[in-house]
Amino acid sequence: MTDGREIPEELARLAEQARVLVRRAGAPRKGGKCVVYWMQRAMRAVDNPALDVAIAAGNLLGLPVVVFFAVIPNYPNANLRHYHFMAQGLRDVAEDAAERGVGFVLRRHPDHSLEAFLEEVQAALVVGDENPCREPERWRRVLARRLRLPFWTVDADVVVPSRVFGRSYFLLHHFRPHLKMELSKYLVSGTKIAPHYPWKAAGPPGFSVLEDITAGFKGLDRTVRPVDSFTGGTRRALKRLREFVSRELAGYEETRNHPELKGTSRLSPYLHFGNIGPATIALAVQKAVRQGKASAGAGDRFLEQLIGWRELAVLFVRHNPNYDNWECAEPWARKTLVEHAGDARPHRYSLEQMERGETGDELWNAAQREMVETGWMHNYMRMYWAKKILEWAPDPARAFEWAVTLNDRYELDGRDPNGYAGIAWAIVGKHDRPWFARPVFGLVRSMTGASTAKKFDAKSYIEQQGGAGCKLKF
Ligand SMILES: Cc1cc2nc3c(=O)[nH]c(=O)nc-3n(C[C@H](O)[C@H](O)[C@H](O)COP(=O)(O)OP(=O)(O)OC[C@H]3O[C@@H](n4cnc5c(N)ncnc54)[C@H](O)[C@@H]3O)c2cc1C
Repeated sequence: MTDGREIPEELARLAEQARVLVRRAGAPRKGGKCVVYWMQRAMRAVDNPALDVAIAAGNLLGLPVVVFFAVIPNYPNANLRHYHFMAQGLRDVAEDAAERGVGFVLRRHPDHSLEAFLEEVQAALVVGDENPCREPERWRRVLARRLRLPFWTVDADVVVPSRVFGRSYFLLHHFRPHLKMELSKYLVSGTKIAPHYPWKAAGPPGFSVLEDITAGFKGLDRTVRPVDSFTGGTRRALKRLREFVSRELAGYEETRNHPELKGTSRLSPYLHFGNIGPATIALAVQKAVRQGKASAGAGDRFLEQLIGWRELAVLFVRHNPNYDNWECAEPWARKTLVEHAGDARPHRYSLEQMERGETGDELWNAAQREMVETGWMHNYMRMYWAKKILEWAPDPARAFEWAVTLNDRYELDGRDPNGYAGIAWAIVGKHDRPWFARPVFGLVRSMTGASTAKKFDAKSYIEQQGGAGCKLKF
């Protein structure tokens, strides 16, 4: 046990890793009984650098580790679809934590206070994970001010910790060389760290992961139904990864832009909920390439999406307070869009018409149905979908707002840096360069229905989403 008077040297060294941010410094509580990992973003108990840091700290202090997870009814923009997926994933967390000798306590509103829990279990130190989005980052700052214990957070859901770069980048090819320099340091298989002081079976009371975690949550938006197309959790994520690597990775370069072929990993919901970490995926893909199951080109192309584009999006959200609105527009894009604000818009649709998939564009309606009915949309269709919203909305600011509203409401992977960066790419030229002048879009890259539909079998895609004229049921 620590005597609480000073920070043990090895503990101080643990906190010096680039992945760890010391939000509140100081010596662990004198006579503390455990280390608490406050899990929020990285919902997994395996391959989780935040849990690993908590276990390493526990081992140094001679203390067990307990994971604390709080369910609140008003998580920003979350609805029943998101809570349902999250609840499925928490079952795996509970099982995997128990297997690792780590405690797991789930508490629900109104018994969800982390501060109360820390007192109840006499925590010595708190470790959290990181989340670059506005509200979760604010929670961490508030806690750091209020807690009387050391509080560290760990950047657990990126391959290279964002602090290593300390800035955002205009374009992927600006970011790529910096990323390349760091990858070999961070993309390595971790050794599994085991707690030297396992958590005793009888812990503090909590809510069972088998019960309905949303029961009694008044005000929760229950209008967006859970979907069968994805089941949350680490086990499902790992299964999907194995399937992708053995079946689809080899053809990824050729099929990734074909929405009618299921050629991509469909791991984005699992990444969003932290059911799987990007390093686990990247290492599995690298292994498959080494074993000759896929070409180096396919592996590189996939890793460019998973690490290049994804971590570029995380840096954008971290460093741009307007990441989810039109104010994040690149100056050139803002100028050109303002200049074209008065251009005739041959078709205009309201947010409600778009939400119901009732536009005159069957390809767009099919994409909207894919999102509403399955909780996921193919990347190529997401690009087209958002470009059309820019064309049909009254102005670019509203186009941005409407795209965020629909994306965050229906996508299982919505409310994510990737979503904000993707919408900013499509509507306000983020991470893109000026293109050729077109009405409404100005120099922002446009996509037309005719040219998009020629690049893949659009007819087959529309058929898969119920066919032309198919209506969404709400
Ligand atoms: C308008 C628009 C909205 C988007 N909204 C979201 C969103 O809400 N959530 C989300 O996770 N992604 C979003 N994306 C990015 C991308 O479309 C999805 O990540 C991808 O389609 C997920 O499918 P997948 O897992 O099969 O991807 P794969 O092709 O298998 O790629 C593997 C992983 O790489 C990452 N990735 C792939 N493409 C991109 C990209 N363009 N930008 C950043 N990361 C990428 C994702 O984490 C993805 O899971 C959006 C893109 C656009 C253009």
